[in-house]
Amino acid sequence: MQAKTHIAVIGAGAFGGWTALYLLRRGARVTLVDAWGPGNSRASSGGETRVIRGTYGPNQPYTKMAARATQLWKENEKGWGLKLLHQTGVLWMVTAGDDHFERESLPLLREAGIAYQELSAQEMAKRWPQINLEAVHWGIYEPEGGFLAARCACRAVLDGFLAEGGEYRQAAVTQGDLDSGKWDSLSLSDGSKLSADQYVFACGPWLGKLFPETMGGHIRPTKQDVFFFGTPAGDDRFTAARLPVWADHRERFVYGIPGNQGRGFKVADDTRGPGFDPTSGERTISAEGLKSVRDYVAFRFPALKDAPLLESRVCQYENSPDNNFIIDRHPEHKNAWLLGGGSGHGFKHGPALGEMVAGWVLEHKDPDVLFRLARFGK
Ligand SMILES: Cc1cc2nc3c(=O)[nH]c(=O)nc-3n(C[C@H](O)[C@H](O)[C@H](O)COP(=O)(O)OP(=O)(O)OC[C@H]3O[C@@H](n4cnc5c(N)ncnc54)[C@H](O)[C@@H]3O)c2cc1C
Repeated sequence: MQAKTHIAVIGAGAFGGWTALYLLRRGARVTLVDAWGPGNSRASSGGETRVIRGTYGPNQPYTKMAARATQLWKENEKGWGLKLLHQTGVLWMVTAGDDHFERESLPLLREAGIAYQELSAQEMAKRWPQINLEAVHWGIYEPEGGFLAARCACRAVLDGFLAEGGEYRQAAVTQGDLDSGKWDSLSLSDGSKLSADQYVFACGPWLGKLFPETMGGHIRPTKQDVFFFGTPAGDDRFTAARLPVWADHRERFVYGIPGNQGRGFKVADDTRGPGFDPTSGERTISAEGLKSVRDYVAFRFPALKDAPLLESRVCQYENSPDNNFIIDRHPEHKNAWLLGGGSGHGFKHGPALGEMVAGWVLEHKDPDVLFRLARFGK
């Protein structure tokens, strides 16, 4: 009997966890390694919730990927007997003067089979009177979009992976620079060595540290503050029962997720924050960030003016220069794949991306050109 191909996946976040699971399902032997565990508080996949939507502008693969991901989230959560995908709907409010991003999203939503409604400001005002729609021209409502339980989902993927026969080790890869020199195994923090036929490095914002030359200039971690505000007692207008996930495309892109498990009204500004070290960075929100979000909430959701801050979180985006994912073989180490650059929108795609990457790795295929390192030149 031929031995199974052995693949080591480093990083059990949204990208690595799902890739490990689909590699396993495609018949490989898979060892998944993570320094702090799936969806840990330093990881980009940590925290409570992530938005899933198909509105993505023109000329991109992500609308179709979101449609496939939605299907796979449903299949997997059903198989595991869990609720990870909450289809509360997503409302995209168009406030920018130039609405080509939204207009050109529509044909892609149609092609991908994602349900949507184009709503006038009047229709929105009727459905969601708790939103002040000043300066909103129109909107896209995706009834099947919503949010994902982020940290819980990372854990669920690991549990599924273990139940299907995967091997997991909680340890860090300790080599400082994997770009240079020849290596045929990885040194782990528990003193052991891990050797495999192929390696997939899905280390999110840490990729630049492990591969300083290849990835250092292409992955820029930025500090992102997330706020949870308290809603009035007994008032359900700001819970998922009465309000969808929303995104406000104005000069700054602001979005929110209404009450998940009573944690409060989540609001965040997608504008890239300052550079951030995912290992040693102190996770305290900035006073200016809080003021700006609070002013925004008072304007767009007047009943939440002066709402108290219940919780806050600091996460980091791992931005690629063009905000597209990076999925490629290492230019020197041909049995090593680099997987990252989620750029603030990667989480939802986890299962679709894992399924796609597992195919490329096991069938020795080249990745889609959009994701290759060659796009950055040298
Ligand atoms: C505030 C915020 C809001 C977001 N909102 C959305 C959203 O609404 N919708 C959406 O789709 N996406 C969203 N994203 C983006 C999305 O969460 C990320 O793109 C995605 O989670 C990245 O996953 P990853 O697996 O690449 O990285 P990570 O989750 O960071 O996983 C990398 C893993 O590698 C491990 N690791 C690192 N170094 C080593 C080492 N040396 N040895 C072993 N293990 C190591 C880490 O412990 C970590 O678990 C958001 C991100 C943030 C921060």
